[in-house]
Amino acid sequence: MVDRQDALGLPSTKPLDEADIQGFAAALRGDLIRPEDDRYGAARAVFNAMVDRRPALIVRCASVADVMMGVEFARSHDLPLSIHGGGHSVAGKAVCDGGLMLDLSSMKGIRVDPVRRTAEAQGGLTLGEFDHETQAFGLATTLGVVSVTGIAGLTLGGGLGWLNGLHGLACDNLISAEVVTADGRLLRATEEENEDLFWGIRGGGGNFGVVTSFGYRLHPVSTVLAGGLSYPLAKAHEVLRFYHEFASGCPDELSTTASLGVTPDGVIGVSVCYCGPLEEGERVLRPLREFGSPLADNIEPMAYTTLQNSPDAGFPPGRRHYWKSSYLKELGEEAIEIMAEYVSEMPSPATGVGLQQMHGVASRVDPTATAFPHRDEHYDFLILSQWADPAESERNVEWTRSLFEAMEPFFGEGVYVNNLGDEGEDRVRAAYGANYERLLDLKGKYDPTNLFRLNQNIPPPTEAASSPVS
Ligand SMILES: Cc1cc2nc3c(=O)[nH]c(=O)nc-3n(C[C@H](O)[C@H](O)[C@H](O)COP(=O)(O)OP(=O)(O)OC[C@H]3O[C@@H](n4cnc5c(N)ncnc54)[C@H](O)[C@@H]3O)c2cc1C
Repeated sequence: MVDRQDALGLPSTKPLDEADIQGFAAALRGDLIRPEDDRYGAARAVFNAMVDRRPALIVRCASVADVMMGVEFARSHDLPLSIHGGGHSVAGKAVCDGGLMLDLSSMKGIRVDPVRRTAEAQGGLTLGEFDHETQAFGLATTLGVVSVTGIAGLTLGGGLGWLNGLHGLACDNLISAEVVTADGRLLRATEEENEDLFWGIRGGGGNFGVVTSFGYRLHPVSTVLAGGLSYPLAKAHEVLRFYHEFASGCPDELSTTASLGVTPDGVIGVSVCYCGPLEEGERVLRPLREFGSPLADNIEPMAYTTLQNSPDAGFPPGRRHYWKSSYLKELGEEAIEIMAEYVSEMPSPATGVGLQQMHGVASRVDPTATAFPHRDEHYDFLILSQWADPAESERNVEWTRSLFEAMEPFFGEGVYVNNLGDEGEDRVRAAYGANYERLLDLKGKYDPTNLFRLNQNIPPPTEAASSPVS
């Protein structure tokens, strides 16, 4: 444990005044950005352009000390506090109104140990930046599938990506973390040290503190057999039926996604990543590639980073997003019919409806071993609506909600916390599932005043007891 050095000498809760702000700015190594600053507009913008919040103060943290000072400043001045990792939460949880936004996106340090096969990575890295460094040594760990996303929010909520079948979720590969807690201390969390905190940050999101650094286990990953197949929408039934059968029996080395959307080649896409001997991958993938005369087949050996970067162009900055998601265990005829019907009337060509497969090692971890509880084989069913024109927002949101409602009868219990919008307490509970009660206790221990509330919030037991049951 490292005790906080109160460089500002701040007393507990006091109102914000100009002298305090000036003193705070002077004490930081990074920048303090305020609304009158030319950089303010860009600094408060997050991935989802639907989110339009105006923090009073933005701290571009340069170091762990800046994070500690920021936490202390927000706590002592009773300011709403939001934590910005990669800024890709579609719910926009990285940015707050009227409070302090602690932005870690300049903290991009990473040290790879190729002998131990570990990486120590700061909280501001994107997936692409992380992969760039680890791939120099032929190593990788499970992260998400779009490289512009932040490692921090992704890992803290679970982290589902191409390597989940072989190596588990991102949070399963976490071996240590450094966390600035609500009382301003910097704690190290591992299986042996502050092990309850270590349990909670592997699925419990940013509820327990600001993670300045993540230690990951890495695995040998170099060329993978990956890419996609596409088909016309008219073949939705036969393709998705076959896909479900194929994916359900696939080995840990292979992970898959299926998507419905408007692409130059067709509207149904099946994407794969086989991480293992290439000849074996060719053999495993043959039945899929020989099925149903695809319009295009671009599955080929490629660098892992090529795969990771390939969807980025589909998620440019500045677009509006409205996402809905739940878990789907079975992909039956009726569900396929509904998806195909809605996709044919999709209001934006940039939108996609997808299934992201979780299986293998990720599904065999004990549900109570980490805070991430949903340990079975399933698909993340995702409606990823995106469009550019603000005038189109209502139409896109309405279409998304309507498809989600139509699909509800086919959903299993639970939802992936990182895909949640502002959907109410029941959905937050569903995201934390059977681990919710234990997370409540942990919140009471590490953040009893709920300083870290701008997330999929686990209220401390005192707040939970006083809030009405929804
Ligand atoms: C284009 C796109 C593709 C995606 N693909 C995948 C995917 O393949 N697999 C997958 O699992 N998820 C995926 N996601 C979801 C992703 O996991 C979440 O959006 C995640 O929150 C992104 O993390 P971030 O750091 O960029 O987000 P931010 O918006 O910065 O933060 C998200 C949440 O985490 C908290 N937080 C961020 N950094 C820290 C920190 N250092 N310490 C404590 N709390 C922190 C924030 O306060 C906020 O509550 C995708 C999202 C997008 C937009």
